[in-house]
Amino acid sequence: MTKKINIAIDGYSACGKSSTAKQVAAKLGYIYIDSGAMYRAVTLFFQQHLIDIDNLHGIANALPKITIEFKPVGTLYHTFLNNEDVEQAIRQPRVAAVVSEVAAMSNVRKKLVEQQQKMAAQKGVVMEGRDIGSVVMPDAELKFFMTADIDIRSKRRQDELLKKTGTLYPIDELKANLLHRDKIDSTRDDSPLTKVEDAIEIDTSYLTLNEQIDLICKKANALITQ
Ligand code: C5P
Repeated sequence: MTKKINIAIDGYSACGKSSTAKQVAAKLGYIYIDSGAMYRAVTLFFQQHLIDIDNLHGIANALPKITIEFKPVGTLYHTFLNNEDVEQAIRQPRVAAVVSEVAAMSNVRKKLVEQQQKMAAQKGVVMEGRDIGSVVMPDAELKFFMTADIDIRSKRRQDELLKKTGTLYPIDELKANLLHRDKIDSTRDDSPLTKVEDAIEIDTSYLTLNEQIDLICKKANALITQ
């Protein structure tokens, strides 16, 4: 007999969470949810509307005007902000530069976590982020925590951005941004990034993408076909 489960994948930026989660979901026939894209979309909205991240009043007023959806575009799912495809725009370094400050705000988190929990309610979801195993899906049947060497992560992010945007960003800038986000994400008061007790840790520094996918699919299949 098969049953549907939820899979939470948390960890630092650029450890391979997205690529792994996306393909695990495809192999299992599950829905993939990139929760980081939602924080990026909120950040982009503030930037587009010139709302400074210190303007708490402006942020509180703006939140109800923000709708984020994932919709199919060809064979992929893209992030839509108020009906606009922002999949490329949210990956820009200018969004990455302040997304962690935005994600540390409790009213932003409350709005997005509610939406994420609704999406996970039917089961059959692979969701990746920072607080998925701890806050969004604490009852997920499988939880993973991904780490990797910082220089390997910086190189991976450089390659990914080159592929996605056509621009070769300096590796030192990317590394500084990753370290900056790691620090804010791990030390914020609301839902800090942390490895929950029941999460399986995967150091992806020397694993191939296929090895990461296989590892998770094996664990998932063992539970699904129990
Ligand atoms: O995963 P990604 O690097 O795109 O996430 C962007 C940022 O969104 C993270 O650095 C973090 O600040 C925030 N985030 C979060 N909680 C999540 C997912 C992402 O705080 N579940």
